[in-house]
Amino acid sequence: MAYDTRNVFAKILRGDATAHVVYEDDHSVAFMDIMPQVEGHTLVVPRAAAEDLFDIQPDSLAHLIRATQYVARGVKKAFDAHGVMIAQLSGAAAGQTVFHLHFHILPRNHGIEFKLHAREPADAALLAAHAARVRAALT
Ligand code: AMP
Repeated sequence: MAYDTRNVFAKILRGDATAHVVYEDDHSVAFMDIMPQVEGHTLVVPRAAAEDLFDIQPDSLAHLIRATQYVARGVKKAFDAHGVMIAQLSGAAAGQTVFHLHFHILPRNHGIEFKLHAREPADAALLAAHAARVRAALT
């Protein structure tokens, strides 16, 4: 399947859709997931047009995973997490729903299960507050 520029993350990258951004650099942008599976669920996307893990140059992927590690540190600190789960779904059969490559960052705590994938939109004000916590943790 060819990369489709109408996907929502491409719109966010172009400024045609809004997001609660927590980090950006020349190669990557990170923002809150609007249907978080846990509080603090954050996504990191490459600026490069890539549909999934197999559609990106290794050098660009290296930038993306570096940004993911950086942002995950901030998410872990902001949500006082015991651990962090990193997920990447490539292909509809794997559960991918937005066809622009991204890593999920989920702060995890003992005894707290995560919700179903991409089901329940969170309140925008709550997401804004969570984004502010992550940004503060990254400074
Ligand atoms: P995946 O199913 O791995 O492609 O993940 C896509 C993720 O994007 C899901 O967790 C959705 O909740 C999330 N999502 C969908 N639309 C938006 C949006 N406009 N802004 C932020 N996250 C989104």
